[in-house]
Amino acid sequence: NKVLIGGGTGFIGQNLRKLLSTTGYNIVNVSRMPGANNVSWSTIENSGLPPNTKAVVNCAGQQFMDFTKSWTPGFKQNVQNSRIYTTRALSQAINESNDKPKVFVLVTGVGAYEPSNTIKYDECSPTTGTDFFSQLLVEWEKAANVNPPVRLVIIRSGAVIGRDGGMIKNMIVPFFFGLGGRLGSGKQYLPWIHIDDLVGLIKFAIENEEVKGILNGVAPQVITNEQFTQSFAKAMGRPAFFPVPESVLNFLLHPERAMIVTKGQHVVPKRVLEYGFKYQYDNIDDACKECAHLFPKK
Ligand code: NDP
Repeated sequence: NKVLIGGGTGFIGQNLRKLLSTTGYNIVNVSRMPGANNVSWSTIENSGLPPNTKAVVNCAGQQFMDFTKSWTPGFKQNVQNSRIYTTRALSQAINESNDKPKVFVLVTGVGAYEPSNTIKYDECSPTTGTDFFSQLLVEWEKAANVNPPVRLVIIRSGAVIGRDGGMIKNMIVPFFFGLGGRLGSGKQYLPWIHIDDLVGLIKFAIENEEVKGILNGVAPQVITNEQFTQSFAKAMGRPAFFPVPESVLNFLLHPERAMIVTKGQHVVPKRVLEYGFKYQYDNIDDACKECAHLFPKK
């Protein structure tokens, strides 16, 4: 039972590997780095999928909330290419393979939906593609053009709540020192999912043959940035007195990138619930409690 994971060395990829390898799967990562269980992107492009690959997952992508990297045209291109080209390379390898995997799961984001305070998005909502992220998402998801009978599942993930990566990793130190606070107005929606549920949903998509198409990888509980901030501060046992104004975020990150935290969208996991997926963390207090410790558990 071999699963090939593009970006399997990252936050989502490693948690997925842990879950799958405890339930009998063999994992191969596609990575830019050499490693015992890694193959390179050029191997995939030149030699195709490793033999007996039953499922392919793509979790690769240059991190864009990296405060050390300026939002230059070159960096933006890297953000785009690392998602679109890896997805294209895996799709092409799947289409050219004689021994096809059953499923291709691509992890994208809720940035597919343009931020709004009024629209409620489910998986059938149109993706408008007018801001940088929704435009990227259109191209990224288009690159996943695998031919039937390979099932295609695209999981549009919300902000992933987990100790070792994403938003929590960036926030835990300021919150620990009591310097946390809401971002921008705090009224913007914050679609979220606990890491265990996201990797659980990927496994669910691999194992259930009826699952196909777009899934909103978000918890059913819809919250705002302010609600998240209060919940995380409570779980850390710290106050959250230091809001970061939108103007400061725009200055530090560039408005085009800052919108990922200063704006939000109301996203519901309609199809995920219809398929009968069971969440382990369906409220933000429990999700925050699980990851509110300064040192990662090994
Ligand atoms: P990480 O940064 O932890 O991991 C991403 C992996 O992608 C890295 O391990 C790296 O693998 C690979 N990668 C990075 N840059 C490049 C590049 N330029 N070219 C090719 N591969 C690259 O990210 P996450 O695990 O948090 O996220 C994975 C995906 O999920 C991303 O596309 C992200 O946008 C999406 N997502 C994440 C969310 C979150 O909250 N974390 C929310 C919604 C979507 P290596 O170094 O081995 O090559």
